[in-house]
Amino acid sequence: MGKGMDSSDIRRLDQVKVSQYFGCNTFGERAMKERLPKDTFKAFRESLRRGARLSPEVAHGVAQAMKDWAMDHGATHFTHWFLPMTGATAEKHDAFITWEESGQVIERFSGSQLTQGEPDASSFPSGGLRATFEARGYTAWDPTSPAFLMEGPLGITLCIPTAFVGYHGEALDQKVPLLRSMDVVSKAAVRALKRFGIEAEHVVAQCGPEQEYFLVDMELARKRPDLLFATRTLQGARPPKGQELEDHYFGSIKERVLGFMQEVELECFKLGIPAKTRHNEVAPNQFEIAPIYEAANLASDHNQLLMEILKSVGERHGLMVLLHEKPFAGVNGSGKHVNWSLATDGGLNLLEPGRTPEENLAFLYFLAATLKAIHRHGGLLRAVIASANNDHRLGANEAPPAIMSVFLGQHLSGILDAIERGEISGGAEQKLLAIANLPHIEKDFTDRNRTSPFAFTGNKFEFRAVGSSQPIAMPLTVINACVAEALNELNLALEAEEGRGTPHREAVLAVVRKAVTETKAIRFEGNGYSEEWKQEAERRGLPHAKDTVAALKIWEGEAAKAAFVQTGVLTIEELDARIHIRHEQYQKALSIEAQVLREMAETQILPTVIADLGARAGALNQLSAAGMEVPDPLKASLQAQAHLAGVAQSRLLLLVKTLADAEALEHHDQRTEAFGHSVRIAMESLRDVLDTLEEGCNAEIWPLPKYRDLLSPLS
Ligand code: ADP
Ligand code: MG
Repeated sequence: MGKGMDSSDIRRLDQVKVSQYFGCNTFGERAMKERLPKDTFKAFRESLRRGARLSPEVAHGVAQAMKDWAMDHGATHFTHWFLPMTGATAEKHDAFITWEESGQVIERFSGSQLTQGEPDASSFPSGGLRATFEARGYTAWDPTSPAFLMEGPLGITLCIPTAFVGYHGEALDQKVPLLRSMDVVSKAAVRALKRFGIEAEHVVAQCGPEQEYFLVDMELARKRPDLLFATRTLQGARPPKGQELEDHYFGSIKERVLGFMQEVELECFKLGIPAKTRHNEVAPNQFEIAPIYEAANLASDHNQLLMEILKSVGERHGLMVLLHEKPFAGVNGSGKHVNWSLATDGGLNLLEPGRTPEENLAFLYFLAATLKAIHRHGGLLRAVIASANNDHRLGANEAPPAIMSVFLGQHLSGILDAIERGEISGGAEQKLLAIANLPHIEKDFTDRNRTSPFAFTGNKFEFRAVGSSQPIAMPLTVINACVAEALNELNLALEAEEGRGTPHREAVLAVVRKAVTETKAIRFEGNGYSEEWKQEAERRGLPHAKDTVAALKIWEGEAAKAAFVQTGVLTIEELDARIHIRHEQYQKALSIEAQVLREMAETQILPTVIADLGARAGALNQLSAAGMEVPDPLKASLQAQAHLAGVAQSRLLLLVKTLADAEALEHHDQRTEAFGHSVRIAMESLRDVLDTLEEGCNAEIWPLPKYRDLLSPLS
């Protein structure tokens, strides 16, 4: 950012270089350096580096500078910005103004207002973590994520990223567990690196999330209660040609969409979000935006902000942005590819294999730890991305399967197999023919298997089963925690081995070999979409949670508890709270959908179908009155449609009853099961018949925009 350049200077994207205004709306390093007294800045940087608490003086100094900076940019209010367990972001705005003793209004913002807030938080879900008598929650400043300015129609608000905790420090949000997991995996990795003679004070989990979404014309979207309230279509006959329009993929981006994307990027850049790529996705009107990777906690905040930006910029462009995992039946869903790796504070990527991975012992060690993590906790990884939305996507239309497995590519697999067979061992630096003959790793080469939910793609892993609307904090937390757990075990084994006097190389290979052998079941190079894989996975004993109902049981299992509790990432109470909220969210999502579908069927679709029948029957009567014979097939077709309308009406009644029955259940588990099984099936069977009715109804009077309207190119 050039000095003095702020967002009001940005008129046209093509007249200003991004580097000139990147991060201009954040109180990041550059702004801090400019505004903070030297000592304060140094003290701040130092405590950030050591992960230590800030002294009140430093906090106060930062608060003053932050307020001045924000007010110079026109801010009138500030808010603690946080990520409650709902998955959305939350804010409570306060003006800077306060009474001075003389009775004048002045602007004030203190260190304590910066570091701690107390939103009236009793209505955020706590999963039972807070009894009502201590319903307070506190927001605590997270200095690792820069404060930023949010531009509103009539003013600017300073947003301070915060953690949200209970009275006793319980994590009430998604940020605290993520930060804990970053710390835990860092410690385990640093301990490992000591054995390899690699210098690092910290190891940082890195993440670059690729975000997919659909765009729908707002005028059309507004006519669909399902899109408005459930952000997916609950009904809609499929067009004869939909998904087949694959020329959309990487096709040229239409002007209107490009305008939207450019504004999204502008907003991202101002907030320091390194948006990098944009392109059309496979399905019609489906797109993707991906940032450059950064520290996982920042990537998480940035992805949360990005989702907000997408929606608000969309509104300005008359577009509804659908982040839902499966907005349209029969059309590809949207995911969020969470790319993950570990790097030292010096910038060394520990998952970079180099040209000769078989000689890169540290790489093999970290790879083995990741395999071990996914092998033990594939079920948990699956569970953490389970939601009512993602249930529609996983395992359908080109989406990752609900069975977790790891794809490594031919080259790495070959190396691991050779290690397992003992063909790469300590002693001499022998290199096997079998390996020497294998092709070297090229990024493109490893990325070929798109059917794998957890794929090694060159120098990082790509977790592809995460849903497009989901916060990435929890999936990242689970990966970090599970890899930390695995590293801790490998570290103990390696330390013991070396303690016995085994030479380093031999010791590492022994530990890696054991891990590779034990975790073989999780490796799969074939077609993850195929039916054979489902059977094969079952033979291998890999968990296959088909839906959220099944996945939630994994959350409740012992392995999950161990991963969270023993690593210190979540306490039992915090874990239970999250499981509780998952149940609630699942039930709520399905309950809303069921109600909206009922309303659409009862008040829009069936009245239209019956009116259409009436009109057509009347027309046939007129034919008859005019002395013409009404052909039987015409009568039969009306009769069939009338019959279907009757079926729809009775399925509708069944849905209403199923919903009421589910809501009436006392026990959480039973309710989840009733929603997942009875209510969902009742909705699907009603939808089936409504879709058929749509196909037989006069399109002129159909009350809802059709799939072909929603999916036709935006112009
Ligand atoms: P693709 O997956 O389409 O091949 P890329 O490999 O270029 O695309 O990157 C996809 C995402 O992965 C981007 O957000 C990128 O910044 C991120 N990424 C690249 N390298 C790493 C890494 N070492 N750790 C985490 N994320 C990474
Ligand atoms: Mg990718």
